[in-house]
Amino acid sequence: MKYGLKEKFSSFGYIGGPHRHIATKFYVDQTSHFRICEKCGVKYAEDKHSFGADGVCAVCGFSPVYTDGLEYAYDAETDSYAVVGAGAISGASALFLPAYYDGKPVTQIGKQAFDRRRDWKSAVLPSSIRSIGDAAFRNCRTLERINIPSCVDSIGVAAFNGCFELKEMRIPASVTSIGSSAFSGCSALEHIEVAEENPVYRGEGNCIIERSTGRLVVGCKNSRIPQGVVSIGRSAFYGHGGLKSIELPEGVAEIGMWAFAECRELTSVTIPASVTFMEIAAFWGDIALVAIRYDGTMSAWKAIKKQEYWDQHLKNYAVYCTDGTVDKDGTEHRN
Ligand SMILES: [Zn+2]
Ligand SMILES: [Zn+2]
Repeated sequence: MKYGLKEKFSSFGYIGGPHRHIATKFYVDQTSHFRICEKCGVKYAEDKHSFGADGVCAVCGFSPVYTDGLEYAYDAETDSYAVVGAGAISGASALFLPAYYDGKPVTQIGKQAFDRRRDWKSAVLPSSIRSIGDAAFRNCRTLERINIPSCVDSIGVAAFNGCFELKEMRIPASVTSIGSSAFSGCSALEHIEVAEENPVYRGEGNCIIERSTGRLVVGCKNSRIPQGVVSIGRSAFYGHGGLKSIELPEGVAEIGMWAFAECRELTSVTIPASVTFMEIAAFWGDIALVAIRYDGTMSAWKAIKKQEYWDQHLKNYAVYCTDGTVDKDGTEHRN
């Protein structure tokens, strides 16, 4: 903890003379409680609520107002509930999921549970959640913030696909499975972190990288692809508008299916000589892409195995090689 914060949340104050802070009540929001000193006005003792089985915080007594109309399904195998839908539009700007329903923990967010919901700017998930199902938050186009609790082990295929406003994503150490296209089309995504202790994924340069394979599985518009990455995974940057240029480090051998597709503001890409294979539609629909900088010769560029549609819908880009330039139609201009 940084010194400034420690001072802020410690129980001693110095404003108006040294004193122990005094407060007779808690202030609360949906996720935390804190006190404000009646002598000096400093906010202190902030902490996350500690909810018991009754859904009440054991420290401050707060019991959150959960989102109305949620639909649950009982799962006998795990003796717990899944949230499977949210019924009618609530009009509320935030989704609050409870940790318990009908005396049992709520551990799953079901497939497509909140697909296409357009009412929430934020979602607060309880620490009982273990899995986020396929397409659970797909096309939640207003969702800006969501927490991934530290017991979640899997994030399903397309779970957050098309969440245009989602700004940041913090992956806890518990997540060991991230489905393909989980963050495709998250064009506002600007910050990605992975807990250091995560055994399967690591975070670096605003990228999520699978440790065992060196495959980059999720990127964003602020990604700087680090050394050690050997392949760009399927749909890793799909639909990430705002990505202006990207440099692939030496060592990358493969660019996966749809990896950079629909990056509509992407103007330049740097490709190392280590690349040998580009899968289908790798740069599909990158309408602004004009310059590919390739760190090899023109003949090496032509020798890269490129699957069909890899450059579909690109305009007249040029590939700048070490010994000349290759046009989109394959015409060579030797230096
Ligand atoms: Zn005080
Ligand atoms: Zn509390």
